[in-house]
Amino acid sequence: MTAASPVTASTSDVVWEAGRRRTFAVISHPDAGKSTLTEALALHAKVISEAGAVHGKSGRRGVVSDWMEMERSRGISITSAALQFSYGDAVINLLDTPGHADFSEDTYRVLSAVDCAVMLLDAAKGLEPQTLKLFDVCRHRGIPVITFINKWDRPGMDALRLCDELVERIGLQPMPLTWPVGDAGHFRGVVDRRDGNFIRYARTAGGATAAGEERLDPAAAEEAEGGEWTRAVEEADLLAETGGEFDLDRFLEASATPVLFGSAVLNFGVRHLLDLLVELAPRPTPRLDVKDRPRPLDAPFSAFVFKVQTGMDPSHRDQVAFARVCSGMFERGMVVTNATTGKPFATKYVQQVFGRERTTLDSAFPGDVIGLVNATSLRVGDTLYADKPAVRYPGLPSFAPAHFAVARPADLSRAKQFRKGVDQLESEGVIQILRSLRRGDGAPVFAAVGPMQFEVATHRMDAEFKSPVRLEPLPYSVVRRLADPKQRSIVDGGTRSEVLTRTDGVDLALFIDATAMGVMRRLNPEIQLEPLVASTD
Ligand code: GDP
Repeated sequence: MTAASPVTASTSDVVWEAGRRRTFAVISHPDAGKSTLTEALALHAKVISEAGAVHGKSGRRGVVSDWMEMERSRGISITSAALQFSYGDAVINLLDTPGHADFSEDTYRVLSAVDCAVMLLDAAKGLEPQTLKLFDVCRHRGIPVITFINKWDRPGMDALRLCDELVERIGLQPMPLTWPVGDAGHFRGVVDRRDGNFIRYARTAGGATAAGEERLDPAAAEEAEGGEWTRAVEEADLLAETGGEFDLDRFLEASATPVLFGSAVLNFGVRHLLDLLVELAPRPTPRLDVKDRPRPLDAPFSAFVFKVQTGMDPSHRDQVAFARVCSGMFERGMVVTNATTGKPFATKYVQQVFGRERTTLDSAFPGDVIGLVNATSLRVGDTLYADKPAVRYPGLPSFAPAHFAVARPADLSRAKQFRKGVDQLESEGVIQILRSLRRGDGAPVFAAVGPMQFEVATHRMDAEFKSPVRLEPLPYSVVRRLADPKQRSIVDGGTRSEVLTRTDGVDLALFIDATAMGVMRRLNPEIQLEPLVASTD
């Protein structure tokens, strides 16, 4: 920062800082190698000195991001936060996404805070269900995607077939920037399609300490690899003829994806991925407010909360709200306004949080993620801003729930704690809460995208709020949005359907199956039932 005082950043500073930011998340199916890739990325950026220290699972060293007891015992990563590191002149924000399928709602919200996604595929498995779901969200939000085909060091699918899968199953044109030399399992290295050189994989002892890569020109490559090299070059040329040439605009409009081949565990291709992120990933841009007006990057500070989490540090039960900065410079100690409530919020305790590692944060710029500690008044979707003009960003998406259960306090004398716990879980987005006059306030309905969300909710009600709950599953499997509240009685009348209202005010029509809904539609052709899109924004 130039001659500006420590509490103000000039407009050009903010724009310059924002321009250095690359904020992204890795989307993948469990086991594709996301944790390994995160470690490898961090290793290249030199935030840590040893792979395994940042992001681990049970059994590994330095299990940093697993904070919850349940999570530890299951060895899955439920939490999400952000890892920030510098790479050359760029500042990279890698937002962690939970890997388990049932935590998709949380994962989806994280995607509202990124500018780019890395789609990580296992070379032996191609597109897997969780990847497909997450990709859908990226597509829905127009997030550009870079594809990294991982585990090329072991037997897998044919490279051309993997590329065909992208076109055929998700309509995404692959634009390979590297092309493998040698089949999966007989990995030699890759052709760098942009300069025609060979990036050869050089084995290093242990593999974890350095990127084992060396560059050879095409003549040297042919001499070294013979037929494998020629075949790779021919295949790469073939791709160019079938629309696989790199096109920046198609990447930015999310209709095509640059593809890299590599191996996270061997550190191969990881530096290339980082370079590509710096080169291609969109920089933070002005975010649209609820009235579709862009908030300039250099306007006063604003941010939106995309995640609220309690109990990250079991020794003092605290609550951290994660917010992505959208405009201006954030400084610790600033008093900001919560646009939803109009109330001030003091930011004395602001941290950069990744797993259990916390560092106090002094300033942040558009694209960065801040963790606001003791933020009990903040909810997912809230906008924070400092100074005039005020701003409010659209709320975050709520996803169509597929599992429903009535929740009752197991111990009626704990009714107050029960209510408090339910409110808390709802505000964190752990579960959705549905209510109706008919069911009354004492027995809210928990609704979830995946059944494991129920497990987390009941575990936390018991462990944190000391109010064990009894869940009675409801038989509904089909859900629609009831567009006209006056039509409520049509759905509410029978035994095979009912209407419940979500906390965001949306009326959900629930049916036990598609037949029940079909019958109702035939008998009441006037009824307006809309598919529940993932998004409310
Ligand atoms: P996550 O569930 O997506 O976070 O996956 P992990 O990073 O935990 O990886 C799952 C398994 O795949 C682990 O046993 C890793 O060691 C292994 N793995 C990750 N990347 C590679 C790779 O490039 N090659 C090979 N052979 N194994 C890998």
